[in-house]
Amino acid sequence: MDSIDIIKKMPSIHCARGPKRCKKCKIMAEEEEKFCLIRVHLKSGKIARPMTEIFVGCRRIYGEYDVVKIFKNDRDAKEYAINNKKDITFS
Ligand SMILES: [Zn+2]
Repeated sequence: MDSIDIIKKMPSIHCARGPKRCKKCKIMAEEEEKFCLIRVHLKSGKIARPMTEIFVGCRRIYGEYDVVKIFKNDRDAKEYAINNKKDITFS
């Protein structure tokens, strides 16, 4: 398994530099966090992607991720998780 799909509340980030170093990211990160379907890569790739921490079972994984889908609201995210058997994390 090279990647894990998980639904998580994420700040909107526009590039890998993140809100600490990028003005545009900072502005976007101040907006409300939205549930996103993210794909966390277990091996680091060639492209610099933003990083996130997830828990799978009792394993803590820190890896690069891509945003696959952004949900309009919490209900959308929960329905998608059930219908597509995706993990959803509320932490
Ligand atoms: Zn940025």
